[in-house]
Amino acid sequence: MNDNVYDDKFCKQVDELLSGYVDGELSQQQSQFVALHLATCSTCQQTLTSIEELKMTIKQVSYPAMEQQQLNAVLQDLSSQRMQQFSWFALISGILICIIFAVYQFFIDSTTPWYFKLSISLIWGGIIGLFLSVLRQRLLIRKTDKYNKVEL
Ligand SMILES: [Zn+2]
Repeated sequence: MNDNVYDDKFCKQVDELLSGYVDGELSQQQSQFVALHLATCSTCQQTLTSIEELKMTIKQVSYPAMEQQQLNAVLQDLSSQRMQQFSWFALISGILICIIFAVYQFFIDSTTPWYFKLSISLIWGGIIGLFLSVLRQRLLIRKTDKYNKVEL
């Protein structure tokens, strides 16, 4: 047996290594050296206990702090969702107002002949009708897709 390991002069070395020992950051050789010394030195055992207690306290203190961070992240996400909803609303209502205003201007314009107004109306009516029918088909396909996935 190596009696030197139990010598008091190793207490300083062990003291420096203890934090790493608790965290499991030491090499196998260092870890064995610390363990061997701890087996017989009550002073270093007490230091180990206090380090472990300190680390436990830090864990307990930092845990609620992490929860708070997660809560903040969720709240930020919620406000960004609201922001997105508002942005979509603003964008769509802006476009709608533009269209309504343009249509209104177009129809009250007395310099435009009636047949031109009629043909433009038909073209737009056709475009919107086609768009809506395609959209309807897409939605129906998606609906049946959902049921097709259900295996009986
Ligand atoms: Zn010691």
